[in-house]
Amino acid sequence: MITIDGSMGEGGGQILRSALALSMLTQQPFRIDNIRAGRTTPGLMRQHLTAVYAARTICHADTEGESIGSTTLVFKPKKVTPGKYAFAIGSAGSTTLVLQAILPALLTADGDTEVTLEGGTHNPFAPPIDFLRRAYIPQIARMGSTISIDLDRAGFFPSGGGRFVVRVTPAKRLSPFQLLERGPIHAKRAVAVISALPRDIGEREIKRVIKRLTFEASELEVLSLPADQGPGNLLMLQYDCQHCSEVFVGFGMKGVNAEAVADSAIDHARHWLAGSGAVGPFLADQLLLPMALAGGGSFTTTQVTEHTRTNAKVIAMFLPLNIRIDEQAQASRIDIDMQ
Ligand code: ATP
Repeated sequence: MITIDGSMGEGGGQILRSALALSMLTQQPFRIDNIRAGRTTPGLMRQHLTAVYAARTICHADTEGESIGSTTLVFKPKKVTPGKYAFAIGSAGSTTLVLQAILPALLTADGDTEVTLEGGTHNPFAPPIDFLRRAYIPQIARMGSTISIDLDRAGFFPSGGGRFVVRVTPAKRLSPFQLLERGPIHAKRAVAVISALPRDIGEREIKRVIKRLTFEASELEVLSLPADQGPGNLLMLQYDCQHCSEVFVGFGMKGVNAEAVADSAIDHARHWLAGSGAVGPFLADQLLLPMALAGGGSFTTTQVTEHTRTNAKVIAMFLPLNIRIDEQAQASRIDIDMQ
């Protein structure tokens, strides 16, 4: 049994999600203590519990400690069973983070899988659907597995109520992964999304983009979603390059003005634009696991976060891999190879 200290490194929910994914994939049981010890509300929250439930259901695992607030979990997996599944968080918790726990095992499963997820789809501190579609999924496709996402309705924090369907066509094996340069930018887009809020908020966000970044009028949009999906707002900046796409998002929140929402996306985009690494910090921590599953590869990033370092540690507990992180100011390089 692999024993994990959930307080190591970043000390957040990522350690649990990566452990679930790796346990399903490698069929190795694990025990995690001090779950989310680095957070102000430690232990399993609803989103994490849904991730455990989803992982357990898909691989018929036996568990101990699967309850709200629990700081210890034992997970004993059995065979991953592809098929049709539906999981609801029952709050505005992030559905895309639940997906993070179960998706890696589905990429090389014995058959196709369809999963319907209900809850928050556009949450702060989680990958938004547009990021998964534009930035993450195309890189997985390069490794051999096909993923599609159909968004039925958006769910914003704090009301939730979103729903999407993910379809996965696995590969027998993922191909090793190389992404050392992003290549020239050939298209870009800035979209302010508004639901059940004044359109003026989106217009102010777009004005801020014009002030702080270089965008043509034809690349800018204020998109109104049906009011029953809100209230919600986000600003999304998307860059399509020769070898990858990046998506940076600022989330509207009560008490935060439109300019500050726009600035959070713009600051991320500017940091990435100023560097030469292929991917930004979020895509970097999310690419590690599929790359490990492929058995090797290399990529560059503009920033190595504590998330990425912690994820690398968890991966190395389950798989006989060397993960080397060479941190540089403009482009840090991450290499994975078999031991
Ligand atoms: P905790 O529950 O402990 O508070 P968490 O479960 O919410 O943490 P983290 O451990 O913080 O989650 O991990 C968040 C994940 O979401 C990381 O994989 C990170 O890359 C991703 N993420 C966060 N913000 C963005 C964003 N703006 N775009 C894309 N991905 C994001």
